[in-house]
Amino acid sequence: MTITQLLQAAVQANRHSDTAWLDAELLLCSVLGVARSFLKTWPDRQLEEADRQHFDTLLQRRLAGEPVAYLIGTQGFWTLELEVSAATLIPRPETELLVETALELPLAADATVLDLGTGTGAIALALASERNLWRVTAVDLQPQAVELAERNRQRYQLDNVTLFTSSWFNDIPAQQFDLIVSNPPYIERDDPHLSQGDVRFEPASALVSGSDGLNDLRLLCQRSGDFLKPGGWLMVEHGYQQGAAVRELFAAGGFAGIETRCDLNGLERMTLGSYPETKT
Ligand code: GLN
Repeated sequence: MTITQLLQAAVQANRHSDTAWLDAELLLCSVLGVARSFLKTWPDRQLEEADRQHFDTLLQRRLAGEPVAYLIGTQGFWTLELEVSAATLIPRPETELLVETALELPLAADATVLDLGTGTGAIALALASERNLWRVTAVDLQPQAVELAERNRQRYQLDNVTLFTSSWFNDIPAQQFDLIVSNPPYIERDDPHLSQGDVRFEPASALVSGSDGLNDLRLLCQRSGDFLKPGGWLMVEHGYQQGAAVRELFAAGGFAGIETRCDLNGLERMTLGSYPETKT
């Protein structure tokens, strides 16, 4: 069987997915250990039986709903290729908006940054890779996530990132940062979308935040002030229907210059503000 024949059969089997071609190509690249350009260059190459079987096992798991990123063990984020595991959320393209916005802030060349609930390390590592004088601290509640993020850090030799286990601020030594950034859990406990698609396979602890989805965002807005320099920034991702509620939480936390930005789909996706409120 050739590469083209195998991909066509896989797409046929996966025809309910709107990313069937991409899924099949990514799975085959992972089995063969090649880049996608290889598949285009050698469409008529015959596959080894062992590779075909390995591909078939992954395809069956994909057909049962498992996210491609968990099957191949990596996900692209910003300029990085990050290891992922079922211990963390899979980095989303929307979250690159936080990275982009953080890089636009008027911060010092040697700014200090805190990433809360870092998961794979995506936000922290992307920022550290763009600003090698920034000192980035990144924490996660799950020790397995911290270990994973540490492997991702080592992979890119980002010596300006320090990772450790902490539930939000609990184990962070008293200090003040220039920027606190977070993609916390923000889905409502009873949201029906939790039982559909890829999120079924992701850890609920990284997705769900109480009955209104705002438990963790509330905590971040209340407590960040203690860990920010005067004029420091808090920036959080949130659900597309939570913009107004999150702006209120920022205001209640004493933030000024509160602003919500939309993702590429035009949906309210993140809010930022500076601390403390400047009195005019
Ligand atoms: N944006 C993700 C989703 O809707 C949720 C990410 C999160 O809770 N931080 O699947």
